[in-house]
Amino acid sequence: MVSRVIPVETFDLVIFGGTGDLARRKILPGLYRRFVAGQMPPEARVIGAARSEMDQKGYQDLIRDAIEEFIKEENRDPETLDAFLERLDYTAIDARGEGGWDNLAKMVRKDAVTAFYFSVGPGLFGDIATRLHDHKIATPESRIVVEKPFGRDLESAKELNGVLAASFDESQIYRIDHYLGKETVQNLMAVRFGNVLFEPLWNAQYVDHVQITVSETVSVGGRGGYYDKSGAMRDMIQNHLMQLLCLTAMEPPSKFDPDAVRDEKLKVIRALDPVPADNIVRGQYGADEDGPSYIEDSENPDSRTESFIALKVDISNWRWKGTPFYLRTGKRMKARMSEIVVHFKETPHSIFDEDAGSHSNILSIRLQPDEGMDLRVTIKEPGPGGMRLIDVPLDMTFADALGPEGADVTDAYERLIMDVIRGNQTLFMRGDEVEAAWAWTDPIIEGWQKRGDKPVQYEPGSSGPDDALMLLHRDGRRWRELRA
Ligand code: NAD
Repeated sequence: MVSRVIPVETFDLVIFGGTGDLARRKILPGLYRRFVAGQMPPEARVIGAARSEMDQKGYQDLIRDAIEEFIKEENRDPETLDAFLERLDYTAIDARGEGGWDNLAKMVRKDAVTAFYFSVGPGLFGDIATRLHDHKIATPESRIVVEKPFGRDLESAKELNGVLAASFDESQIYRIDHYLGKETVQNLMAVRFGNVLFEPLWNAQYVDHVQITVSETVSVGGRGGYYDKSGAMRDMIQNHLMQLLCLTAMEPPSKFDPDAVRDEKLKVIRALDPVPADNIVRGQYGADEDGPSYIEDSENPDSRTESFIALKVDISNWRWKGTPFYLRTGKRMKARMSEIVVHFKETPHSIFDEDAGSHSNILSIRLQPDEGMDLRVTIKEPGPGGMRLIDVPLDMTFADALGPEGADVTDAYERLIMDVIRGNQTLFMRGDEVEAAWAWTDPIIEGWQKRGDKPVQYEPGSSGPDDALMLLHRDGRRWRELRA
């Protein structure tokens, strides 16, 4: 099966922080892949803007190195790479001063779609937004893309929203959460709202509980100092896991339209109950032969920041009352894995003997590795010897179902950047959504700060603290096994 590529309008994309880690690792390799796919029009241009003084050739060399480092050799070739690099330009800019802005104003075309990617720390968002506006570089049709973290609490998120709103309309602001750009996440909506099979069962009457896991094997490494001011709740739950929860729990929007989808997500966030202390487990990884402990990585012996968190979250609305959503995320875990798992209830009555066992359907939506879905259904164990039941997967790994083209799942960043150029905000967070997520998160963090709770230590390479297992055991449930 050959995937369809719809070219976008011609554009000028300015990347502030165009020499930084995110630009080199994700944004420019993603754009190169879209170029190779034929989605980038021939006149489209990408302009790096950052602090370092360098000329166009210097920037092209820097990005050539980045693409050679981050894109496998079999997925690139010298001709397309040269042609792509031709599309790149660069200007040195001082976000906090006036240097470089007049030059940028001359470089950006007025008759193309213009997008400005703020791949810099949030402390610079206001400076850049104001200068883009004052130097008349941005037009009312321009788009800006802002990276996480979007605030560290409700107050700072409101402040950031205010700073951006002073120069840009909400319809121009694209708050990126790359989890929303994953193929499977969109497939979750396709499966829910494109089939009659699931939606009638998608509620507290038929769903026992939902698990959302994002586990990483890496430590906080060299980012320990930065991470220690944040922690898993701010870094992962408030944004990524919250977004996954919203897409799983939301009501069907009236159409697949940015505001209709985001209105429904916002309603879910507003229906989340406060989380009592008993429903939260926080942990810090210990040391082993592969690496130091969290305390050592953070260089803060008194650190109370969590590198792992598990939460039981209740949603107070008609659809979900009584069906908990268990969320967990952590670093230095046994496997790198992201998935949403919907555990359906057992059949109301079993017509089979006791030794047939009890069975229930499980729908798992894997974001990584091997993006895909699998539905476990109960069948009869083949062969003679009576009616014994087993659960087998109805697997829908994209690679198997769609062939190699389907397996070449577009990276989240490149998909989202193309959505920016198309002017489609569906997969971006709206300002009120981000604020509502912080309004739910803040009291949870304040709660453990007031109580003086300390995270418990967990073994690196494990599934997290035993207390997290207990969080489900006490409800008669268990976490899905973490596996790579
Ligand atoms: P980085 O430190 O590697 O790069 C920062 C970039 O900003 C550099 O190009 C630098 O020249 C530029 N810059 C800094 N101060 C400037 C100034 N005063 N004027 C003009 N340019 C200036 O950072 P990064 O890792 O690329 O992250 C960029 C943003 O993306 C941050 O907000 C970060 O939180 C976010 N983010 C990064 C990642 C990642 O994987 N690196 C992932 C998610 C979010």
